[in-house]
Amino acid sequence: MAPSDEVKDVEKTLFEKLSANDADGLKNILLLNDINIDCVDENGMTPLQHVCYKGNKEFAQMLLDRGADVNAGKHESSYTALHFAALSGNVELCQMLLAAGAKSHATNSVGRTASQMAAFVGNHSCVVVINNFVPKSTIDYYTQPHDLETEPKLPTIAASPLHKLIMQVNIHPVRVALTVQKSPALLDNIPRACKVLDLMCEKEMKRGQETNEVLSFKFHYLSFIIAAIEKCKPKPGKKGEKDDGSSKDPVEVFIKRILQTDSNGVPDYQEKMLRECIRGFPYREGALLRQMVASLAHENSGCDSALSVIAMAINGHQMGRQVRPGADKDGGKGEGLCEACGDWDKPCKACSRCKKTLYCGKECQRFHWFVHKKTCTPAPDPTPAKKEAEVPKTAEATEQQETLSEPGPAKTEKPKSESDVEATTSQLKDLECK
Ligand SMILES: [Zn+2]
Ligand SMILES: [Zn+2]
Repeated sequence: MAPSDEVKDVEKTLFEKLSANDADGLKNILLLNDINIDCVDENGMTPLQHVCYKGNKEFAQMLLDRGADVNAGKHESSYTALHFAALSGNVELCQMLLAAGAKSHATNSVGRTASQMAAFVGNHSCVVVINNFVPKSTIDYYTQPHDLETEPKLPTIAASPLHKLIMQVNIHPVRVALTVQKSPALLDNIPRACKVLDLMCEKEMKRGQETNEVLSFKFHYLSFIIAAIEKCKPKPGKKGEKDDGSSKDPVEVFIKRILQTDSNGVPDYQEKMLRECIRGFPYREGALLRQMVASLAHENSGCDSALSVIAMAINGHQMGRQVRPGADKDGGKGEGLCEACGDWDKPCKACSRCKKTLYCGKECQRFHWFVHKKTCTPAPDPTPAKKEAEVPKTAEATEQQETLSEPGPAKTEKPKSESDVEATTSQLKDLECK
C-alpha cells in the first residue's frame, strides 16, 4: 500500500469514529502522528466541521486541542465550523470556536454569516453570543503601557473579570452588578475599567465598514452601569455622619436603587438612569440610537421600559422582550425570568409564599424582597404537591435549544440623513425626565 493510501485510510477511520460518536476511538486516532487534522471528506468538510454540525462540544475541544484550524474547510457551500455550530444551537460551542479565532464575518455561498444563519433558524442565544464576541486580547491590550504611558490603563488582574463582564449575555443592571460584586479586582478598579470601556466604545465606532454600533453601545452601557456602582461607594470624609444602619456594600446599595419601585410598581430610578444612559451615548448619528430613541418616544412600540429598549438593542428582539421587570403583574408575559435580574438561563423557582414570582436564586430573592413583600400574597390553592426545590447551581439549561423564533435586528439598516440626526437629537431632548 502506498503511503498516501495509508493516510487516506487513517482519515477515513477518523470520519468513521466521528460519525459513530466514538470518543475513545477518536482519542486513539488523535494520538497518531501522521494524521492531517484538517483533512476533508467528500463534501469538503473537516473533522471539526463535522462535530460542529452535530453540536458536539467535547469532540470539538479534542480536535482544537490537537491543533485543528478553526477556519479550515472546503465545504461546497462555504460553510465554516462556526456556521455549523450556530446552526446546531450550541452556545458554548460557538463561544469555544470564537475564542479559538473563528472568523465571525465569514459568509457562506448565499452571503450569510454564522450569526445570520443562527437567526434564520431561531437559535437566538447563538446570535447574541456571536454578535457580542470580543477576543480577550482586546482587553489585554490595555494591560500594557502604550506610547508615552508609564503605566497601563488597566491592571492585569482586572482584565479577565472585565472580559467576563463584556461577554455576559444578560445585561440587566442587577446581573451586571452581581458579576462586579464577585470580582474584587474589578470592583476596586471601576474608574479604570470605565476608561477602557469608553475607549473600546469609541474604537468600535471608528472601524469604517466594520463599525459595530451594537457593540459600541454595549461598552457605553456597561461603563455607565459600573460607574453608577462606583458612585454608591461611601464617600471618604463623611465619617462623622450617623450610620443609618443601611447596607454599605456599594453593589447592594446600587441593586436596591435599581429595584426600588414607585407607588405604581414602576422602577422609577432604574428608568431614569437608563434613559440617561441612552442619552449619554456619544455617537448620535447611528441607526441603533435612532431606533432606541424612537422606541422610547412611541408609547405602543411594545417596549415599555428603557431596559427593554436597551436589551433589544444589544441582544435583539426576543431577549429584549424577555427582560421585562414587573412581568408578574401583566399576566405572566415574562414567564421564566428572574424578577430581580432578568435571568433566563437557569430554571427559575417560584417564591414559596405566592408561588408566582420567579427568582434565579436565593440571592436575587433576598435582594428583591423589600419590593416584593408589598405585593406578595399567599397562594390561595393549598395543594401541597409542588415542594420548593433547591435552586440548581449550574445552568444545565444552557445546553437546551432556544425555542425562540424571531431573528434579532443585529445589524441595522440604511444610511442616515442630516434630518434623521436632527430628529434623533430633538427626540433625545424629549427623553429628559421631568
Ligand atoms: Zn436573578
Ligand atoms: Zn411572593
